[in-house]
Amino acid sequence: MTPSLLQRSLAAVWHPCTQMQHHETLPLTPVVEGKGPWLITEDGRRLLDGISSWWVNLFGHCNPRINAQLRDQLERLEHVLLAGFTHPPAVELSERLAALAGGTLGHAFYASDGASATEIALKMSFHMWRNLGQPQKDRFLCLEGGYHGETVGALAVTDVPLFRDAYAPLVRQAVTVPSPDARRAAPGETAIDIARRAADALKARLEAESGRIAAFILEPLVQGAAGMVMYDPEYLRLARALCDHYQVHLICDEIAVGCGRTGTFFAHEQAGIRPDLLCLSKGISGGYLPLSVVLCREEIFRAFYDSDTHKGFLHSHSYTGNPLACRAALATLDIFEEDDVLAANRKRTALLGRLLEETFSGHPAVRHLRQRGMIAAFDVEDTTDGFSRRFFAAALEAGALLRPIGNTVYFMPPYVMDEPELRALVAAAATALERALHHPPSAPSGGSEQSGRGGSAHHPPSRLKDGDAPSGGSEQSARGGRTLP
Ligand SMILES: *Cc1c(COP(=O)(O)O)cnc(C)c1O
Repeated sequence: MTPSLLQRSLAAVWHPCTQMQHHETLPLTPVVEGKGPWLITEDGRRLLDGISSWWVNLFGHCNPRINAQLRDQLERLEHVLLAGFTHPPAVELSERLAALAGGTLGHAFYASDGASATEIALKMSFHMWRNLGQPQKDRFLCLEGGYHGETVGALAVTDVPLFRDAYAPLVRQAVTVPSPDARRAAPGETAIDIARRAADALKARLEAESGRIAAFILEPLVQGAAGMVMYDPEYLRLARALCDHYQVHLICDEIAVGCGRTGTFFAHEQAGIRPDLLCLSKGISGGYLPLSVVLCREEIFRAFYDSDTHKGFLHSHSYTGNPLACRAALATLDIFEEDDVLAANRKRTALLGRLLEETFSGHPAVRHLRQRGMIAAFDVEDTTDGFSRRFFAAALEAGALLRPIGNTVYFMPPYVMDEPELRALVAAAATALERALHHPPSAPSGGSEQSGRGGSAHHPPSRLKDGDAPSGGSEQSARGGRTLP
């Protein structure tokens, strides 16, 4: 018998963020086609992509308008180096992104993935201080539970033990400050109170160490990989003011929360602030092609502008500013403008919120139902092992792609789901929740589940429910359960 696509994949493809042996018991899902919010599997099943294929897709799979622009670009120019050369898509994209950022972030540096954008922002910040005669500013601040990518440099500011611990000897760890996680509000406290308390802790750190700190990096409004931890914009306002006062760059990592995800085009807009450095990736190309970009302020760009080569930012990636990827991004921005997507999403957001409220708010196992724009989540009280794996499998069976992060079920749909699809998605989640809660796994088969890793080892039990880190079993992790559910 000829081997199936699935068997060939397991033999030849090393899948990301996965203990490959788990696939002895958990099958891969071979996808052969995408159409709008739907993924179509090899055996003809249709799955609703409730997490935008790892948070990247904005306007559906195989969007005809993005496809058309890509076809046009393919006939013109597929790629050219961006050192010593330039091309229309990179120029136009840089100008349009600068305009979207109110003209304050007028210089765009390109790479291919989110982690590289983090690396670039960190290097740029450090190098700017060095160029200005302050090389001692060589440390970074990050938020507890923050996620900024998994390359060795980015791991320094990624506070997810499951990803970091194995490589700890390689990583120069950043200083972590408390998360403004709104779930920490005690009775009578508001999210703003929590934001202020977390900002006080940030202030204390800066007061003590700002002379050594180059930048503070954070995910504005929603800490995605931590389990859709949401917080009040007040924290961003206070962090901005503190960074100004203590002469520390503020890096907004909007790789996940940018491009309309939280309701505004950039999440930081909701606080009425601008960062010094802004990282974008994921949705920027509509979920089509690898592309990331770091936007920076004039002052930072100026600090590198010199006759001395060594003062320049000598960083590059082979596919920096790839024309196809930039063109996909331009097509994406066109759709935002032509369809007034932010306004349309306000209706989607309200509908999703209402459906989740109706379906889950009174549920005895559901805690902290929360939403910010096109991201919604709730935590599930379930002390048995492997909740996220059971939920994931049950959701697939019910026709939806939903991958909980630990015990946090979340929804991050593409901006093309309308009432029928959103209803179907929430219904699939409800079915999956009941199955996951009431059908605990049969005895784990050998080696299919790591245990004692993550969760309890790193987080005291009192925080399992309200903590900002994934909790529960071993398979929890970041990014929609980046590890195999
Ligand atoms: C996904 C993500 C990254 C890393 O992007 P990759 O393209 O996966 O390297 C960085 N920061 C945030 C906030 C992310 O969600």
